[in-house]
Amino acid sequence: MAKVPEIFGSMVFNDQKMQERLPKSTYKALKKTIQNGEPLDLSVANVVAAAMKDWAVEMGCTHYTHWFQPMTGITAEKHDSFIAPNGEGQVIMEFSGKELVKGEPDASSFPSGGIRATFEARGYTTWDPTSYAFVKDGTLYIPTAFCSYTGEVLDKKTPLLRSMERINTEAVKILHLLGKDDVTRVTTTVGPEQEYFLIDKDAYDQREDLIYTGRTLFGAKAPKGQELDDHYFGAIKTRVAAYMKDLDEELWKLGILAKTKHNEVAPSQHELAPIFTTTNIATDHNELTMEVMKKVAERHGLVCLLHEKPFAGVNGSGKHNNWSISTNTGENLLDPGKTPENNLQFQLFLAAVVKAVHEYQDLLRITVASAGNDHRLGANEAPPAIISMYLGDDLGELVDSIINDREYVSKGKQKMRTGVDVLPDFMKDTSDRNRTSPFAFTGNKFEFRALGSSLNIACPNYMLNTMVAEELSEFYDELKDADDMDAAIKALVKKVFIEHQNIIFNGNNYAPEWVEEAERRGLLNLKSLPDAMEHFLDQKNIDLFVKNKICSADEIRARYEIELESYSKQINIEALTMIDMAKKNILPAVTSYVRDLTDTALAKKALSDAIPTSVEEDLITSLSNKLVCFSKKTAELEEAVIKASDYSDDNLKYAKYYRETVFALMQELRAVGDAMETETASEYWPYPSYGELLFGV
Ligand code: ADP
Ligand code: MG
Repeated sequence: MAKVPEIFGSMVFNDQKMQERLPKSTYKALKKTIQNGEPLDLSVANVVAAAMKDWAVEMGCTHYTHWFQPMTGITAEKHDSFIAPNGEGQVIMEFSGKELVKGEPDASSFPSGGIRATFEARGYTTWDPTSYAFVKDGTLYIPTAFCSYTGEVLDKKTPLLRSMERINTEAVKILHLLGKDDVTRVTTTVGPEQEYFLIDKDAYDQREDLIYTGRTLFGAKAPKGQELDDHYFGAIKTRVAAYMKDLDEELWKLGILAKTKHNEVAPSQHELAPIFTTTNIATDHNELTMEVMKKVAERHGLVCLLHEKPFAGVNGSGKHNNWSISTNTGENLLDPGKTPENNLQFQLFLAAVVKAVHEYQDLLRITVASAGNDHRLGANEAPPAIISMYLGDDLGELVDSIINDREYVSKGKQKMRTGVDVLPDFMKDTSDRNRTSPFAFTGNKFEFRALGSSLNIACPNYMLNTMVAEELSEFYDELKDADDMDAAIKALVKKVFIEHQNIIFNGNNYAPEWVEEAERRGLLNLKSLPDAMEHFLDQKNIDLFVKNKICSADEIRARYEIELESYSKQINIEALTMIDMAKKNILPAVTSYVRDLTDTALAKKALSDAIPTSVEEDLITSLSNKLVCFSKKTAELEEAVIKASDYSDDNLKYAKYYRETVFALMQELRAVGDAMETETASEYWPYPSYGELLFGV
């Protein structure tokens, strides 16, 4: 393998390549757009496009694609070749500024939430120059935003970019108020930790549930799960290590800062974390990472599962969204510094986050809601569905001292003494970690831990950016005319902490008492996507998005419809898959086992009455009873799925029906199926077992 610094970013049209390949004036103009968000001239775009194309063709590309993030939850691409006829029966390779800046995919088959009729097929993609173009599989990829002909936003990137502008504007205003005139730009940063499962491709290919839905719909527990805690951080198996090495290389080539890899809690579960970067790029990179993870797995005869809950009974997969705010002068605004008690700027930004999370806890919950993630939240493996914040001992004490006008006494950094001479002593962090909190302060950033593994992180981040921008803008209005700025900030911070301290919880979020305590505090406990979504259209939320120009009321409504509809569709697919598995494979398999048991018993009896047949008879009875129940439950589920159409004209009712009726029946059917699996000889069972799936690599 070539040295890492040599391959890093080799597939990316990054800053270095721009400097090498663009005339100085073009480079400067483009840089202004990237750094300050200034509009880009078509003449500049023409020069950039030509240079990009030359580089891409040298890299072996024949095509380019506008790469975008529609509301499907995955990325989309449509490839066009660079060829243009030269008039003499030959072709030349061409790429204009117009083609770089604007694309026109047919938008009619992407979800629009009823915002537009399908006959209005036109949609536009627009180049996002803040995220570098890259080469993948012989195509030049251009990151873009996606909207309809009439300008409605149809993607996840546009609201994110808008929210970044909003928080920039408001944070800069506040910093100028505090005398930080050298700050001209503020950006949010994100480092997403990505969990995933790796299983053997041959086993995967035999499971239609995994193929159609990404998770197992049947499957009795293996004798061993994760109870020994021997997988977490365990030595990485050879085949997995080879995969991870290959994956790192592919990601590095794409300029993705892949940093940490380790085994996770469940068998066959792993994690990859990059070094943090600007939120927009972190989002594009995370989408790309998930795609590359799947692709590289194929090369190793493996399948990478990104579903939130592929297996019952062991942990599911999430994503930790580490989020902070920093300035162009290199300052992290969520860094408390050595004396947070005197750091009014930090206190103000902390207060903005506390107030935002409290007031918009429903939005944070909504943004991580999905059919897959419903299996995790509140299931004692992931944070609960109740949103609260963990500040740790030190900051918790700071907030208490401010609320109660007490002097703040920092616990201070303490020396960790190992008691072994050859081991160096070191300073330990002032706060331990609280792994159970959905939104935890971790030193100089917040870690939002409720995300599902397959989620596009654009959504939680545009919510976070927007809600914090909103609080900062309110703070600005309150502070801007103050005579004594320090006194005004102190009073404001104190007021905010008093009014919003209910969102702060430093205890065990998995404890049943927390549910009651949270209720006393008036915090929401939205258990499923339909429960959460109901709040999306609350007036305060619509006001937030409209006032901050992130989305219009119609666009919010569209997003609401899309999320609910896709939830119902997903459960519908799962139900149909279960019915198929039940009728075509499980029922016939168990029946044939029972028939063979019966034949055996009859043969024994024919030979001699003295031969005991109680084993066969017991099994025949037990399985036959279960078959009756199984077949009945399958029929009930079939009927429930047919009935769903009664609710289809209201997406919320439709989703609730799927959750409360269809999903509930699926659980019942699964219980009977899994019980039969434990009694059926493995040679008869039509699917690879949990043991084979989870311990097969
Ligand atoms: P862990 O939480 O697993 O102990 P770390 O605390 O080292 O891991 O970091 C987790 C993630 O947080 C990494 O992706 C890291 O790059 C990211 N991170 C660190 N600092 C920031 C920051 N200022 N803004 C956003 N993400 C950050
Ligand atoms: Mg973490």
